Amino acid sequence: MADLPAQVSIREVGPRDGLQNEDPVPTAAKVRLLDALSRTGVRRIEAVSFVHPKAIPQMADADEVWAKASKVDGVRYSALVPNSRGAARALDAGFTELEVVVSASDTHNRRNLNRSTASSLDDIAALIEMVHEAGATVEVIVATSFGCPYEGDVPPARVASIVDRVLADGADRVAFGDTTGMATPRRVREVLAAVRESQPDVPVLLHFHNTRGTALANILTALELGVTSFDASVGGLGGCPYAPGASGNVATEEVVHMLHDMGVETGVDLEALLDAARLAEEIVGRQLPSGVLRAGPRTRRA
Ligand code: ZN
Repeated sequence: MADLPAQVSIREVGPRDGLQNEDPVPTAAKVRLLDALSRTGVRRIEAVSFVHPKAIPQMADADEVWAKASKVDGVRYSALVPNSRGAARALDAGFTELEVVVSASDTHNRRNLNRSTASSLDDIAALIEMVHEAGATVEVIVATSFGCPYEGDVPPARVASIVDRVLADGADRVAFGDTTGMATPRRVREVLAAVRESQPDVPVLLHFHNTRGTALANILTALELGVTSFDASVGGLGGCPYAPGASGNVATEEVVHMLHDMGVETGVDLEALLDAARLAEEIVGRQLPSGVLRAGPRTRRA
């Protein structure tokens, strides 16, 4: 097996990506979850998104959640924004790291954002300029990088060309979303190879869903290829919007549990993370799909 990196940076996305795909929960519960996660040792948290409250009622109280949350030293907090208006709200709220999404699949982009991928890329160029003027940074997340629920396979070259475009427009970071869990290790290799062909040094973050059970295999493959940043969601919070009842985001404790046993450091205290996962279950009132949450870590004895 290839050498693994000594350290991995996990971005916890449960409070945003997770809760956005669950039934709405009270503001106080969101703050409790964010605070619990801030104390797990995780170094990055996607805290909220500044989307239109009519489009996504789950995030209508983003300003209040963020105002009430404890900001723990050493944790980088970020916000997802859909457009320049959302970016202005995020900047007003004090965020200095913003994320914006574009789909590699034109059909998915139109269904999700009501415009073509090309039109979204133009909007993102303007958004980057505005955010940079305010002294903050922008990560562009390329959704459906490993497959699209409408179009099927997405050519890796198309993903790479979007990366070229957004980096030319000044994006500070790029990420690839496996929006509906269609990635496999083979496709991870193909997308990374295509992106690195024109952008050999660009640091990437990968966002896997475990919809079809391949998330940890994908992460291990990416680790062997030198990727050291991954999104994950506590408990596996957040379902799959295209397949009711299916799991979505890979569970953070499953990632941490595997990495620690392989000698890869994350900074996360697994027991504290499991406490946060139990809290997440209590908040959404349903059993979450995390195997490590169900069975406990491998170090636990019967
Ligand atoms: Zn996700």
